Amino acid sequence: MLKIDNLHAEIDGKTILNGLTLEVPAGEVHAIMGPNGAGKSTLSYVLGGRPGYEVTQGSVEFNGQDLLDLEPHERAAAGLFLGFQYPVEIPGVSNLQFLREALNSQRKARGQEALTGGEFLKLAKDKAGLLKLDPEMLKRHVNVGFSGGEKKRAEMVQMGILDPKFAVLDETDSGLDIDALRVVGEGINAIMRDPAKGVLLITHYQRLLEVVKPDKVSILSQGRIVRTGGPELAIELESEGYDAVMADA
Ligand code: ADP
Ligand code: MG
Ligand code: MG
Repeated sequence: MLKIDNLHAEIDGKTILNGLTLEVPAGEVHAIMGPNGAGKSTLSYVLGGRPGYEVTQGSVEFNGQDLLDLEPHERAAAGLFLGFQYPVEIPGVSNLQFLREALNSQRKARGQEALTGGEFLKLAKDKAGLLKLDPEMLKRHVNVGFSGGEKKRAEMVQMGILDPKFAVLDETDSGLDIDALRVVGEGINAIMRDPAKGVLLITHYQRLLEVVKPDKVSILSQGRIVRTGGPELAIELESEGYDAVMADA
């Protein structure tokens, strides 16, 4: 479903991704762990097509399409969702407006009809319920004054509404307390655990992986995957640390 081959990418002429190869078939949750500065967020930005991230070598195939050839909005319309480590605030735009616009523009790009206001509200309330987010929060401006946990829940509500084929989630667990972590993790399972969908779950910690159980775990270090294993690799990392585990690679 997602096939990354020998990916090299730079920011301001500095090489950050350095020969990254990774494949995620449909039906799999693949966790990416790695020390700070390894290039995890850079990978998610490159997959999303953020300006300033220049791919200098390699390829990314998404459902048989050349992902790197698509504009960011085309990637979203093709079913790619990105969750960010630092969600942005959008003063002046309510969550509901933002989500409805995002959904309907994707539907339009796919040749589907827009949802009516009523249909959309029902969907939004449904997904807010799933993430245990007070639906009243959806009337507030995007992320403005939201706590860390509320931002992440709102982002998962967005994911539920857009119903992507593939999600790249960058440290969705950062800033969450134990209860919020469980709610968000179960939300990810409910929305994305599907034989036709895939997830790249970027995280520093094992604890999210106790809720969203990965099929595979890879370690990213210095811009490339240095080791891949099963869920036990995350447990090994947690107890021994990156240096020890990477020394075994
Ligand atoms: P991670 O998410 O794994 O912590 P990042 O992808 O954020 O790592 O960063 C990887 C490396 O790229 C780091 O060395 C970081 O300093 C560098 N980097 C990230 N963004 C920029 C930027 N805009 N300009 C220059 N270097 C950057
Ligand atoms: Mg980091
Ligand atoms: Mg990061």
